[in-house]
Amino acid sequence: MKVPLLDLKAQYNSIKSDVDKAVAEVFESQYFINGPQVKECEAAIAEYCNCKYATGVSSGTDALLISLMAAGIGAGDEVITTDYSFFATAGCVSRTGAKPVFVDIDPVTYNIDPAKIEAKITPKTKAVIPVHLYGQMADMDPIMEIAEKHGLIVIEDAAQAIGSEYKGRRAGSIGHYGCFSFFPSKNLGTAGDGGMVVTNDADLDSKLKIFRNHGSKPKYYHKFIGGNFRLDTLHAAVVLAKFPHLDSWSAARKRNADYYRKLFCEKDIIGKGVKCLPEEVTNRHIYNQFVIRAERRNDLQKFLKEQGIGNEVYYPVPFHLQECFAYLGSKAENFIDSSKAADESLALPIYPELTAEQAEYVVDCIADFYK
Ligand SMILES: *Cc1c(COP(=O)(O)O)cnc(C)c1O
Repeated sequence: MKVPLLDLKAQYNSIKSDVDKAVAEVFESQYFINGPQVKECEAAIAEYCNCKYATGVSSGTDALLISLMAAGIGAGDEVITTDYSFFATAGCVSRTGAKPVFVDIDPVTYNIDPAKIEAKITPKTKAVIPVHLYGQMADMDPIMEIAEKHGLIVIEDAAQAIGSEYKGRRAGSIGHYGCFSFFPSKNLGTAGDGGMVVTNDADLDSKLKIFRNHGSKPKYYHKFIGGNFRLDTLHAAVVLAKFPHLDSWSAARKRNADYYRKLFCEKDIIGKGVKCLPEEVTNRHIYNQFVIRAERRNDLQKFLKEQGIGNEVYYPVPFHLQECFAYLGSKAENFIDSSKAADESLALPIYPELTAEQAEYVVDCIADFYK
């Protein structure tokens, strides 16, 4: 049996006429830049995230970069973030000229450990970027408390967490900025690259909209140096066509996660090869990924691929070990849990269209491997 890590063709087949119609409308209008779908998409995402404002941007990476730029962060500044995430989280900090400062993770949620943040704050610290990894939010209350105490900007990297909740509050609505990605593999993906920044602050919002258009306002007058960070009309139209399905897709992912849990228990392999399954910690988890910890992870990964099962390691190298960040001189003993996660984590197929039969096959193969 074949079980891909993600099956975007199955998704497309279920909504083909809506997506095709939305794309055709953009072509008919030839309104490719700042078409009405961009504003419509911004309004839909702002409302969904319980935020007042949203700015469509060119990618999740650019959502982070433009937030940092609009916050005035640059050379001489420090930005605290997790040691364990997709590269963009840390890369964007460096691209502004600021220095990324990494913090180890909570081994249960894989998110930044708030108890370790304060020790990393210096007079140069300007911001903190918590990441809501795999679709579960970071522990935002202590993070906001620390940020307020030290006057730090909080940029939520919610690229994997659209619709996720922390104590009833939506991802992106707690910090100063919330950054989303419409990369095809995210819960709400477009037909290429796209992203969004949400905020509840009118001043920050208007600044984002200036920065996304080369920093010009009025046109050809530049108070700031921004860039071309616009969301294409085509991508906004595709996001709008898919948006009505987002909650049912995230619910299907959650259903698959619960079914995996049941199957792993029945097979009795937890603690016998599989070290642990993801846990939901007082949050609404949207399961962009379902990540287990596994003994002999690399061998298991290879075995599953041979059995036709897609899987991936998110992420094999924590930031402090990346060659490009060697100059920071990070000490290994400060990153025990992120290093462990990099060695043990394995993402299994969790996409909405996954069938019960496929999930059973995945767990059967894992049980076979550890037998
Ligand atoms: C996907 C992702 C990004 C970047 O989004 P792109 O749209 O691919 O640029 C940033 N941070 C995290 C945690 C992500 O998963």
